[in-house]
Amino acid sequence: MHIFQSHDKNSSKNKRLGIISALAEEQEGLIQAMQHPERHVHGMREYTVGSLWNVEAVAVLSRIGKVAAAMTAALLVERFGVTHILFTGVAGSADANVRVGDVVIAESLVQHDMDAAPLFPRFEVPLTGLAHLPSDLAMSSRLAGAASTFLEGENGATLHRGLIGSGDQFINDGMRLAALKSALPGLLAVEMEGAAVAQVCFELGIPFAVIRTISDNANETAATDFMAFVKTVASRYAFGIIENYCRSHGA
Ligand code: SAH
Repeated sequence: MHIFQSHDKNSSKNKRLGIISALAEEQEGLIQAMQHPERHVHGMREYTVGSLWNVEAVAVLSRIGKVAAAMTAALLVERFGVTHILFTGVAGSADANVRVGDVVIAESLVQHDMDAAPLFPRFEVPLTGLAHLPSDLAMSSRLAGAASTFLEGENGATLHRGLIGSGDQFINDGMRLAALKSALPGLLAVEMEGAAVAQVCFELGIPFAVIRTISDNANETAATDFMAFVKTVASRYAFGIIENYCRSHGA
């Protein structure tokens, strides 16, 4: 059963923005900020349909990992009729210039644990011909504007744009990170969902963007840093940036 009719993706009138985070802390406050919220529980997830600063939106927690994120993204499109997807959450840094508290917006995403060699080149998603799945430039640029405005109020936090890697692994090992970085030199951040959403959106033709606040350095102290960060900072960033994004016009 479809809860919504799907709409013409080119019509600005019928845009509906899907907002995904993996963890509750990454989306705190957003549901409360929704006008006319309507809850739909399906497949172990709660989809809240409503409007955020006059943007029609559906907010949902994907749970953790690539499969969880892929299922959520596909259902947002097919069952809830979203026309655009925004993923917001936290990530580990994969670059010396990217610090805890900084924000990374994906220009493209890679599934860093994908390896079907020798049948396909390492990292390439089989049968798509792509290792680096590009995000939507217009959405990402608008998101960058929203994030810059928000970060003006945060001492010294920097906005970066580039490659984000996703895999089914919490990276808390400097050696493992260094190995990944040498295989993917442009890598700025590592997380567990973004590139799965990217693949679903690529295959369904849905524009999407991914924004991550850096919670840890993907090294031996990552677990403690991550826990402290998601509790205190993650939701404040996500809320502020999404508010600016929605206020900056439509979905
Ligand atoms: N033990 C945690 C598990 C969270 S997994 C819990 O109890 O909730 C980490 C989440 O944050 C994932 O959704 C991932 O996308 C992101 N993340 C943050 N730092 C990461 C890192 N160093 N490696 C991989 N994912 C990271």
